[in-house]
Amino acid sequence: MCAKDCSGPDEQNENFFAALVARHSSDAVVISGPDRKALWVNAAFSIETGFALDDILGREPGSVLQGPDTDPVAARMINQACAQRRELRLDILNYRRDGTPFWVDLKITPVYDAGGLHTHFISTMRDISERKALEEQNEEMRQAEALRQSERQLLALTSEWLYSAKSFDELLMVVRRAMHTLIPEADGALYIYGAQRMTLDLVASWGTIPDFPDHILPDDCWALRRGRAYAYGLKPIQFPCDHVHKADTPYFCLPIIAHGETIGLMHIIFDGFEEDGLMRHMRAEVLGNRWDISLICAEQISLAVANVRLRHELQERSLRDALTGLWNRRWFGEQATRDLANAERDDADLSLIALDVDHFKRFNDQFGHDAGDLVLREVAKLMTPLTEQNIYPCRMGGEEFTLLCPGLGTARARDIAETLRQQVAGLQLDAGGVTLPTVTVSCGIASYPQDARALDPLMKSADRALYKAKESGRNCTVTNTPLAPD
Ligand code: GH3
Ligand code: MG
Ligand code: MG
Repeated sequence: MCAKDCSGPDEQNENFFAALVARHSSDAVVISGPDRKALWVNAAFSIETGFALDDILGREPGSVLQGPDTDPVAARMINQACAQRRELRLDILNYRRDGTPFWVDLKITPVYDAGGLHTHFISTMRDISERKALEEQNEEMRQAEALRQSERQLLALTSEWLYSAKSFDELLMVVRRAMHTLIPEADGALYIYGAQRMTLDLVASWGTIPDFPDHILPDDCWALRRGRAYAYGLKPIQFPCDHVHKADTPYFCLPIIAHGETIGLMHIIFDGFEEDGLMRHMRAEVLGNRWDISLICAEQISLAVANVRLRHELQERSLRDALTGLWNRRWFGEQATRDLANAERDDADLSLIALDVDHFKRFNDQFGHDAGDLVLREVAKLMTPLTEQNIYPCRMGGEEFTLLCPGLGTARARDIAETLRQQVAGLQLDAGGVTLPTVTVSCGIASYPQDARALDPLMKSADRALYKAKESGRNCTVTNTPLAPD
């Protein structure tokens, strides 16, 4: 729609009123010729922009008002609309005479005379800086909210993964990945107290720093010494921890606490955030936000570590014999099944040693149940180191044990059993001041594949050999497959 110059019965009055409106309008008005060169501006224009008529007279308004941050697309749209003599309305960034930018709602209207000839452009400009500032603020808030929302989602996802970790290794994998995603600008490391609680050992690291120390001393860390999370680089008076070797780099140390006990430390370091690297306020803002996330992560990791430990403990308990600490019958069943399948696949040997304490009932009857328990524990203690040779001693119940020997043929298993038998016979046990009689054991051996191929018959075969050992006087080892004499 183009405004047409009006002609009517009282044209003079009309023009007069129009001139009054233009002159006194609170919107800035520029009237240009068909060549777009400015001919007239109203008072509001000069007040708004600081440009007087003389500053703009004979020049295109855009060349005076547009500046470095004016959107070139908006400038092009103005050029096109003017060239096509179309009306146009848009928001554009203009500049005042003193160089300050301000947003205007600009409307350009081509004007035609009674004969339809294009005579002028009228540009009206309304300052909308306040609205723009609000819009920008809203946009910033929207973006910040979106960021927080995505952080919340990531944290929720992380906690879900942390809780579903079945093992410590799985947990570390989740920690590495999650921390790197949640705080991408930081490197980090997770330390867990060693068994003696003298040092903390590096168990996981992420990011680009390759040289986190493998061990740190509890006294070298302010967070561990003070018993709470420590942020270095946010306050004017602070002291770096001794385990951190980059003096100017901000970092966080966050204790990992399970069931009220500090079990480790998460260290998060912002390499490249040195004082000169980033503007101070930006650095503080980013670090402040990361501090909040880190605290939540440390808490979630703490709970997840406690969770994995508990799970591990329960699993251990369900697979271990409480009296001797050896694997139990359940573990034996599962492991022997796996090992037998492997032996079949690899065409490898596997032997079982069934071991039973001789006349065990007498220990109980003559010296009490506690003495019997002592015998069982001491016999088990002799077996435990065999684990290092891939031989797995299990307590099947009572005074009966089975040693699972993957990879061993009958002869090697017999040697192991004989050594063990002799070691048991050499035990000197004292139960509450009373010296116990010599303990002896009998052993029966069965081997895959010659004695049996499946677990049940193989166990029965080993029991038969054990029975023969008992039959032939005890304190000896019997194999089902006859062996050539040594
Ligand atoms: P053999 O030489 O023929 O093996 O005779 P034995 O006396 O060792 O065998 P028997 O099976 O007759 O006795 C095993 C005993 O072990 C019976 C049971 O009371 C005792 N026993 C089973 N479990 C435990 C335990 O956990 N602690 C103690 N002290 N005794 C146990
Ligand atoms: Mg016995
Ligand atoms: Mg028995």
